[in-house]
Amino acid sequence: MESIPFSGIRKIFEEANRRQAAGEDIVHLEIGRPDFDTPTRIKEAAKRALDEGKVHYSSNYGVPELREAIARKLKVDNGLSYDPATEIIVTVGANEAVFITMLALLNPGDEVLIPDPCWLHYFYCAQMAGAVPVSVPMREKSEFKPNIEDFRQRITPKTRMMVINTPNNPTGAVYPIDVLEELVTLAQEKDLLVLSDEIYEKMIYAGDHHSSIGRFPGMRERTVTVNGFSKIYSMTGWRLGYTAASRDLSEAMIRIHQYSTVCANSFAQWGAIEALNGPQDEAEMMVKEFDRRRKLVYGALMEMRAIEVVEPKGAFYVFPNIKAAGKSAEELTWYLLDEARIAVVPGTALGDFGADNIRISYANSYENLERAMDRMRAALNRITN
Ligand code: PMP
Repeated sequence: MESIPFSGIRKIFEEANRRQAAGEDIVHLEIGRPDFDTPTRIKEAAKRALDEGKVHYSSNYGVPELREAIARKLKVDNGLSYDPATEIIVTVGANEAVFITMLALLNPGDEVLIPDPCWLHYFYCAQMAGAVPVSVPMREKSEFKPNIEDFRQRITPKTRMMVINTPNNPTGAVYPIDVLEELVTLAQEKDLLVLSDEIYEKMIYAGDHHSSIGRFPGMRERTVTVNGFSKIYSMTGWRLGYTAASRDLSEAMIRIHQYSTVCANSFAQWGAIEALNGPQDEAEMMVKEFDRRRKLVYGALMEMRAIEVVEPKGAFYVFPNIKAAGKSAEELTWYLLDEARIAVVPGTALGDFGADNIRISYANSYENLERAMDRMRAALNRITN
């Protein structure tokens, strides 16, 4: 456990909260959670489930009606066919989905190719499984999209799995179909499993499209698709996610789930059924609002001194390069907290290849983002005249 560090995002989050509690006017741009409330109809469905006494353990796989709703969603949105009885597992957030995938499917010493920078859970879940995470750099000059040669060069006889996350946290990149095709070819040639984290699939702007890697020919048997309710339905605290994978893979994964969490919260699962089966207008409205904020933040960053920025196409993050500010990502993060009273995440908290960048989450109100960008501009002007 000594090799598993505490989250660098939490560190800044806690310090920002401490300062806020002491009366400072901090704008939070460090957290990866939508600022909206969960839509009322979803809350009502969970309340109804409580009132109806749906308070007991569900099947280890999850409430059957929810698995059926997930199977339908995967078919309609993603072109994926999974049997709700044996191939879908409802988990305690996408976090647990990643955890059971890695614990169940990796042997000690197996290597896992992970795009870097990334959401670091992939690294530490792999390590907890005794496997070895291997960073694959995502390069700014390719707009943070994977370069297949970077993957190829890191393949060894021990490589067992690759992780992909599109739309991406922290870069906002959306992987185009030709890149996915190259990854598919590589996975088949080298007989790799693929963990595809698609939690931001609906948060796509600027005309791009999401494709699930599991729907490419020959990929069903080797892909675990991970998704969840936290982001698109603003349900982070509900802790609900899921995996979709072949029966063989699911049978391995369910054992970890069975002996750790047993099942996800049962009345919360009834809220998730409503989330999937009901009208999707709140989600669509939220995505529209994120796009408005994205344009504001991207536009402001483009005008700032010492900042280079790739346009984010998905999720709700932007990952500007701050090298020209003459400070490391860590130093600039603390400078911005002290001088601009804004909390961001240093790229170093998101992998080895984010050292020249900071992550800004635009999951905050338009007004707060305007204030934050004004303050950031002024603070940068003071160090880069
Ligand atoms: N995957 C990615 C890429 C994420 O950014 C996050 C949340 N930060 C998750 C998964 C986890 O989501 P959940 O709340 O469903 O555990």
